[in-house]
Parts: sequence; structure tokens; C-alpha cells
Amino acid sequence: MPATDVVVIGGGCTGSSTAFWLASRYRQRVTLLEQRTVGGGPTGRSSGIVRMHYSYDPLIRLALRSRDIFAHFDGVVGGSADFKRTGFLLLAPPGEKAMVVANVRLQQRLGVATSVLDRDAIAGLDPRLRTDDVGAGVYEPDSGYADGYATATAFAAAARRHGAEVQEATAALRVLVDGNRVTGVETPAGRIAAGAVLVASGPWTRGLLAPLGVGLPIRTTRHQVVLLETPPQVAPLKSVLVDLGTGIYVRPDVGGQFLIGSIEEGPDEEVSPDAFNEGTDFDFVERVSRRLVHRVPAFSGVAVKGGYASLYDVTPDWQPILGAVPDTAGLFVAAGFSGHGFKLSPALGEALAGLVVEGRSGAVDLVMFRVSRFAEGALIHSHYAHGIVG
Ligand SMILES: Cc1cc2nc3c(=O)[nH]c(=O)nc-3n(C[C@H](O)[C@H](O)[C@H](O)COP(=O)(O)OP(=O)(O)OC[C@H]3O[C@@H](n4cnc5c(N)ncnc54)[C@H](O)[C@@H]3O)c2cc1C
Repeated sequence: MPATDVVVIGGGCTGSSTAFWLASRYRQRVTLLEQRTVGGGPTGRSSGIVRMHYSYDPLIRLALRSRDIFAHFDGVVGGSADFKRTGFLLLAPPGEKAMVVANVRLQQRLGVATSVLDRDAIAGLDPRLRTDDVGAGVYEPDSGYADGYATATAFAAAARRHGAEVQEATAALRVLVDGNRVTGVETPAGRIAAGAVLVASGPWTRGLLAPLGVGLPIRTTRHQVVLLETPPQVAPLKSVLVDLGTGIYVRPDVGGQFLIGSIEEGPDEEVSPDAFNEGTDFDFVERVSRRLVHRVPAFSGVAVKGGYASLYDVTPDWQPILGAVPDTAGLFVAAGFSGHGFKLSPALGEALAGLVVEGRSGAVDLVMFRVSRFAEGALIHSHYAHGIVG
């Protein structure tokens, strides 16, 4: 009998959430392997935005269920994901108004509290927002942001309480296969025999699966975030803001500070996940700051406090690769989250655990994210100009 039922490779939000659900709901013997520290990769640098605005049914269902878990984290998981319910505002240019309205209708049918705002209603939320170039807004009162590191470490701690073994500073060197079945994982401390293996190792996933002949179209790119401070005489922004017109997102933080990042897709700088520039570039700081001031002119006096960069694992259609790896029984993958995987991770772990143990992902059908979709030419087409919005 294998030493463990499931080995999960990668202690980001995806792997640690799945390890939790495998151990707690399905009573599996789970080993979670993390090459560094749990939550210490891109998850720990995530801006942590939790919103439900997506244009596909499975993504909306995952985001909605995840938001509920974030909001009741202590009761469902134990501990805290540090979720802050700030509200979420999306601003769309006139050309994307019809899409926004259609998506909001779909979300409402699936139970999301969301509504379309006209310019007056946007100004009612915050009169400082410039709206003359905005076609429509969307507001979700229940959304907000959470903390990536807190989320991953809370899931891993809860998995451990349910009997999982969490091994930090332990890299999976190789996934072991015998014929067309996975048999375990090799680590520097030896082999772990397992009935199933889930590879949830973010930007490192492609390299881990390549020796098995599994070619995943995941590129690793650098994503920058700038930390700014609102001047004392200016009230901070209350909600998370995604602005399709200027291509930025803005997320409140503690003490009048806030983060800005970009939702634009290029030009992407492809980097090695083990060696990249973790700082911010001067021209990026200038670009996103100018766009912020375009949208909120009252913010012209904001001070730059710092910034950092981390990694996106990007697929050709900006959607994750989820599910069984064809032709190798017991091998599963969950990677390629393309900069929007954090908000999905609580419910995705639940769905993946069901898929690994019972072959069914429950209420959310993950088939559109299958590994084979690229070879089949069945890419997922975002309804928006920015694929990350989904
Ligand atoms: C700056 C930034 C901002 C973001 N903002 C948002 C946001 O606002 N909202 C949102 O929803 N998403 C956001 N994202 C995306 C989101 O954070 C990621 O999609 C998500 O964290 C991915 O989690 P993961 O667990 O799949 O992968 P990762 O966080 O990449 O974790 C993978 C883990 O696997 C480990 N690992 C790798 N190889 C091995 C090995 N061989 N053996 C053992 N362990 C291994 C790594 O060390 C790492 O800890 C952002 C991402 C970044 C970088």
C-alpha cells in the first residue's frame, strides 16, 4: 500500500487549499510538499483581490463559493485569511458596456450580489472618480481583498490538524510513473509512494511535468505592484477598483496606503521563476501613477512608498489548466492561473479534492479547463479585452 494517498506539490493557495479539503472532507492521507515555505511564492505577493465578476459560469461559481469561504473562514477552515469586505468597483469604457451588462445578468442568475451603475451612481459611490470616459460601472458590495500568505498558511495549518503531513523546504524532484500510472514523488529525502499526485506548483509546473512528456503552454512573467500612500488631507479609496479603461487595478491597504497593478497583457517579460528582478521599474511606477491620476485627479499628490514584483504563470487563454493529465492515471495538475487564481483557491481546492478522490468536481464543472484544450484548439475566449478579467 502506498505511504500516502495523495501528494500535493506546491504550498501556494491552490495546493494548500486542496490539501485541506482532501484531508478534512475526504479523509485522505495527504503529504503537501513545498520547496520553500508555505505561501512564500507568488501567493504571498498576491494583491489578494476577491471579486466575482467573471464571464463564465464555472469561474463565477468558484468565485462566489470562494468569497463565502473567505467571509466565514474561521468557521469553514479555521484561522483567518484576513478578508476585508471593502466592495469592488469595475469601470468599463463605452465599448465594453454591453458585455458588462450581460455578465452582470449572468452573475445575478448565479446568486452574486452585483449591479450595473451609470455615471451618476458611480459618482455617488465616490465623487472624485472621473467618469466622462466611462460607459458603465459594476459594483459588488460583498467583495474585497484577503491576504495570500495568511490564506495559504491557514489552509496548510488546517490540513495538518486533519492529519496531513506538511513538508516545507522539501522540493519534489521528480514525479514517478510506472507505465501509465503515477506511483509517487521523489524528494531529496527519498521517495514518497502515492496513489495520486496533484502538481500545483505555479510557475514551476511546466518544468516538473516536461520530463513526463507533458508539455504545458505556461509562460512565467513578471508582474509589478506599486505601493502608494494617500496624502493626509485626502480620503483614501474605499473599494477595490478595476479600471478597464486605464488598464489598472487599485486595492486599498491599511493606514491610507494602497496598491496599484496593471491588468494589461503585454509586452510580457518572460523570466525564470528562480531568478528575476523582484523590484519595480521606474517607468512602470510612472505609468500606473499617471493612469491613477487620470481616473482620480484628487490623487495627484500621492507618495510612492515602494513596490515589488512577483510571478504570473500565464496560459495562452489566460485561464488555468485544471484536471487529470491524459494517459497517466492518478496524475492531476492545477496551474497556469494567469494572475487571477487567488480568489478562486478556496472553492477550487474543494472541487479538485473531489476530482482526485471521486472523479467529480461537484457543483463546478472544470472540464473547460482541461489539459487537452490547447491541443484541441478549444481555448477559452475572454469576453473582455483584458483576459485576466475572465
Ligand atoms: C503580484 C501579484 C498580484 C496578484 N493579484 C491577484 C489578485 O488580486 N487576485 C487574484 O485572484 N489573484 C492574484 N494574483 C494571482 C494569484 O496570486 C495566483 O494565481 C495564485 O497565488 C497562484 O497560487 P498557486 O498556489 O497556484 O501557485 P504559487 O503561489 O505559485 O505556489 C506554488 C508553490 O509551489 C512551490 N513549488 C514549486 N516547485 C516545487 C517543487 N518542485 N516542489 C515543491 N514545491 C514546489 C513554490 O515554491 C510555490 O510556493 C496575483 C499574483 C501576483 C504575482
